[in-house]
Amino acid sequence: MSPTCPDGLPRAIRHWIGGAAADSADGCTFEVTDPVSNTPYAHAAAGGRPDVDRAVAAARSAFPAWSALGNRARATVLTRIADGIEAREERLAAFESYDSGLPITQARGQARRAAENFRYFADVVVALGEEAFRQGQEQFSYVVRTPIGVAGLITPWNTPFMLESWKLAPALASGCTLVLKPAEWTPLSASLWPEILTEAGVPAGVVNIVHGIGEEAGQALVDHPDVPLISFTGSTDTGRHIARSSAQHLKTLSMELGGKSPVVVFADADLETALDSVVFGVFSLNGERCTAGSRVLVERPLYEEFSRRLAERAKRVTVGPPSDPATEVGALVHPEHYARVLDYVDIGRKEGRLVAGGTRPAHLPEGNYLQPTVFADVPPDARIFQEEIFGPVVAVAPFDNESEAVELANATQYGLAAYVWTSDLRRGHRVAHAVESGMVWINSHNVRDLRTPFGGVKASGVGREGGAHSVDFYTESKIVHVAL
Ligand code: NAD
Repeated sequence: MSPTCPDGLPRAIRHWIGGAAADSADGCTFEVTDPVSNTPYAHAAAGGRPDVDRAVAAARSAFPAWSALGNRARATVLTRIADGIEAREERLAAFESYDSGLPITQARGQARRAAENFRYFADVVVALGEEAFRQGQEQFSYVVRTPIGVAGLITPWNTPFMLESWKLAPALASGCTLVLKPAEWTPLSASLWPEILTEAGVPAGVVNIVHGIGEEAGQALVDHPDVPLISFTGSTDTGRHIARSSAQHLKTLSMELGGKSPVVVFADADLETALDSVVFGVFSLNGERCTAGSRVLVERPLYEEFSRRLAERAKRVTVGPPSDPATEVGALVHPEHYARVLDYVDIGRKEGRLVAGGTRPAHLPEGNYLQPTVFADVPPDARIFQEEIFGPVVAVAPFDNESEAVELANATQYGLAAYVWTSDLRRGHRVAHAVESGMVWINSHNVRDLRTPFGGVKASGVGREGGAHSVDFYTESKIVHVAL
């Protein structure tokens, strides 16, 4: 089955270095496929060390002028970038949906969120103050923030454009120049950055984009001595590897890594709302969401009913072509990833009780489609309880009391997000404090507030971005002490 081809689909995706489109120095390219036909629709430049060297050199020469601009002037440019994204919402969403398999309605939401990231960080830097301290009549000290230099940004294939904006916006707002290495499975939406940035008046060299394979283009960026900071979002294994490589230059790192986030549902929860939230939390964005609530722990008296009703709802989710506005779960990003998710489904059949999905929908004979899948009675040592699947697959397990719920919630290497459903707010707060995760939602969906810290603990990451935390990350703080 051929996917609906968006207007203006490029056949070549090139780097963007020093304000100009560029091919790789050695002319190498790689094929880019869509997840419906799994056939190549474009070639993208495959960057290597010489391309990263050129991009870093361009970013270095653009740094003095960009970092010297006032916060208000940079914020004005960021606001124009947000306008440019909003003006292209339809095209951006069509590209993202075509390339990554995201349902088109959800891709539109991601485009809006990308614009909001720029508006938000424009506001942050305009409102930003610097700290001052006084020690009696003797000494006064104040903090000076300076942008750290050329930032290396490495991003994954899930919601790629939005996650790129989540790094680009605070890096630019803080006065850094940068080199972005988008994920190789989904480079299409990044091909819109050059026109958006140029139209917004971003000077040449401030943003540079080098496409390519992680182990080559990404690694060259991590190894580059003139890139003092790496902001990485991706898998825990790659994060560990990047942390090891970065040690050589003692780089500043932010690591937004994988998750296996628990949803703890107590018997006194608002059942309908909790069910809606679980379905949304694990099946929206095709389940390819770092904060997906992919382990659902349910208090025993509610357990059978919850599992049965979750399965019923999962069966009603509409799986279909990404471009169809009725689609709720589209195609998984790449055949390799699809095969990996299907392997987990096979493993799950031995480890738990399959109560929904587990197969390709009958009406979709081709493409990376999977019926939303629910496994009940999953023991905590099961691989589908422990490992990040990153697809529309959820593991459900019972618990008998609050301490067991917390123990099960914490029984994985991950600690990104957690969700608690209960009518007893004291208990909600107790569990929220006891769960090992960077973020917890009580009786609430995964609704973000951009002012709050975003990040994980344990194998889910190091550091926080979001709000002033992002500005802290992209700047160095110097303290100046003055005798009075
Ligand atoms: P990945 O780790 O395979 O790749 C991420 C990026 O790293 C890609 O651009 C890739 O090319 C690059 N890369 C790979 N090897 C590299 C190397 N040696 N040096 C430098 N760069 C390298 O991850 P993925 O499969 O693209 O993304 C899915 C993962 O991302 C999931 O684990 C998901 O949970 C995680 N994620 C986390 C967050 C978060 O905020 N915590 C958000 C989204 C996704």
